[in-house]
Amino acid sequence: MLLRFYNTLSRRLEDFEPLEPGRARLYTCGPTVYGYAHIGNLRTFLFEDVLRRSLKLAGLSVTQVMNLTDIDDKTIREAKAAGLELRAYTDRFIAAFFADLEALRVERAEHYPRATDYITEMVALVERLEAAGHAYRSEGSIYYRIATFPGYGKLSGVRPEANLVGARVDSEEYDKEDARDFVLWKGAREGEPSWETAIGPGRPGWHLECSAMSMALLGERFDIHTGGVDNIFPHHENEIAQSEGATGEPFARYWLHAEHLVVEGEKMAKSKGNFFTLRDLVAQGHDPLAVRYLLISVPYRQKLNFTMDGLHGAAQVIERIANTLRRLRHAPPAAGPGALAEAAVEAFRRDYREALADDLNTARALAALHTLLRQVNTALDGEGVSEPARAALGEALRDVAAVLDILPEDEVGGDAQEIERLVVERTTARAARDFALADAIRDRLAAMGIAIEDTPHGTVWHRTG
Ligand code: AMP
Ligand code: ZN
Repeated sequence: MLLRFYNTLSRRLEDFEPLEPGRARLYTCGPTVYGYAHIGNLRTFLFEDVLRRSLKLAGLSVTQVMNLTDIDDKTIREAKAAGLELRAYTDRFIAAFFADLEALRVERAEHYPRATDYITEMVALVERLEAAGHAYRSEGSIYYRIATFPGYGKLSGVRPEANLVGARVDSEEYDKEDARDFVLWKGAREGEPSWETAIGPGRPGWHLECSAMSMALLGERFDIHTGGVDNIFPHHENEIAQSEGATGEPFARYWLHAEHLVVEGEKMAKSKGNFFTLRDLVAQGHDPLAVRYLLISVPYRQKLNFTMDGLHGAAQVIERIANTLRRLRHAPPAAGPGALAEAAVEAFRRDYREALADDLNTARALAALHTLLRQVNTALDGEGVSEPARAALGEALRDVAAVLDILPEDEVGGDAQEIERLVVERTTARAARDFALADAIRDRLAAMGIAIEDTPHGTVWHRTG
């Protein structure tokens, strides 16, 4: 399974070849923990989850880092407003963030560094940039002189204009098209947290955080760097200038960016007030699984327009999938070859993998799943599904659970595959008149909270707890 990604840096689709064979190193820009993530943020994190899981499905081992920005203008402002120490304030939203990820079935990254735990590495990076002539000091702060980095603009296409060189900006939020010298280190200010360091008292700029933490945990060169499209400029452009300015080597090889979740044509954003958090939706009775389904259903490079109708639609699709799988589970195995051919299941597995390999085309992968489930329903209406086709289906659904992970918990999530396997083993034991083994398996299932029932149509199971 050879993956292909659209690389923002080269502006074309490229085959993915990791620097180190068999291992993918991935840096995903994480949340600024000054409030609850909104579902626009979560769309980007879900894209990264699909990316991570697709890399694994392709047989690669993955080392993923997601930073937690626990110091910037916004976290400082909000902590102050809440009357809390910065750490106590951000702790709360980090916990909330992990709860959201859990509810959305996002797989954990290997590392979640907090910016405030990497001040030493950030200071060392600034020292390297100063030594290489890329940085200058002004009024207690340290800036990056973009005129010293000829590659500036290669990711975003935003070029520094001659008349702007030397114009400084120390805010994290600045004009989209305006390339200026940016702040690396902000001199200490009254009433703001600061650190006493070798480069003077102060705190890091946001861009510096990601360069320092990615290089500390993944090495100076690594494979993939991701974020939302709003991160391309200035954040990622500045990261490249910092990292390559310090090392003289190329930084990340592949840059992937997720398009925005929009509401009535406008980017979902805290500042616009047009946002929902996951807890808002759950409080309204929505299932997080439907949110997951909706947010991954559109390929990541397309904008996704969020509507309540769309969310209801996603919930209905999930219910339909659950019904088909329930039906399959309760149906007796076909006596003959069955109407659902193993070849159809194999075709699905191929289509599904090809879709994901094709720049994570989740819409195509889901379409393949729906085609397969339609075939299952048709077969169940007729001749049924044979044992070998069922086994092949089990494998196929494992692939679905491995990446899209939108199957209802009862069917394949958690331990359902294991349960199915034990039930089949018990049926085989009974057929061989090995009742001691059959009983032992029944006891083992009971210990897992699973009751089984032998019906004229075969064995069915349900959870007792
Ligand atoms: P922040 O917490 O603001 O640093 O954002 C976390 C991530 O969410 C970043 O990768 C942003 O690019 C991404 N993001 C912000 N708004 C949206 C949106 N409306 N749709 C998709 N991703 C977004
Ligand atoms: Zn970042």
